[in-house]
Amino acid sequence: MAALGEGDIAARLRAVQGAVAAATAAAGRPPGAVQLLAVSKTQPAEAVAAALRAGQRAFGENYAQELRDKARQLAAPEGPLWHFIGTLQRNKVNMVVGTAALVHTVDGAELAAALAARARRLGVVQDCLVEVNVGGEAQKGGCAPEALGALLDAISAEGGALRCRGLMCIPPPAEDPEGSRPHFARLRALRDEHARTPRAHAELVELSMGMSHDFAVAIAEGATIVRVGTAIFGSRA
Ligand SMILES: *Cc1c(COP(=O)(O)O)cnc(C)c1O
Repeated sequence: MAALGEGDIAARLRAVQGAVAAATAAAGRPPGAVQLLAVSKTQPAEAVAAALRAGQRAFGENYAQELRDKARQLAAPEGPLWHFIGTLQRNKVNMVVGTAALVHTVDGAELAAALAARARRLGVVQDCLVEVNVGGEAQKGGCAPEALGALLDAISAEGGALRCRGLMCIPPPAEDPEGSRPHFARLRALRDEHARTPRAHAELVELSMGMSHDFAVAIAEGATIVRVGTAIFGSRA
């Protein structure tokens, strides 16, 4: 399918914003409690620019090189606020640190150390989330729930160059959005549990969960960031 035109993207964005607002209200949560992240991976820079003109500010990218290239193309004072949401290899952290406002996918102490080292070199503070493998899927990234405490300790021990803001998950694929609910509930319970242990440079406020097909369920379960691609930009090439 060809990339959508500007008017289509604007209309789809408005529909998603409306659905996010409706789900937020239905969950009895205050307006603005949920941030919409527009996932623009594999979409051309023009599609990002169109959504930006339609009022969308935060965009999620999955590939370090694509993030770097689009950030260069769209650099402007009122340009996108980028988030990195893909699997991150340690040898690619240079393309991401300082460019992404939030890295959603920290899943081990070695990656955390690499991000912190780069942030120190640049003299910036890099915000991140810890990705948790809530479904226990062998092939998937993310930290095992049992290993979460130790990873938060490791981030804290980096001394402030890397700051943890919360948790993220990608549940196992399910036809029915209700299939994601127990996984979202699990992530929220893990957040509540680990938030009880005070740690420097780790404040677990954000829950990044929910995509095009299940963001309403995620919002009902406490998501603060939903990551929506297809519903805004159409299907990916
Ligand atoms: C691609 C992607 C999304 C968006 O998925 P859609 O189904 O297109 O909304 C969200 N989160 C992550 C981590 C992704 O890789």
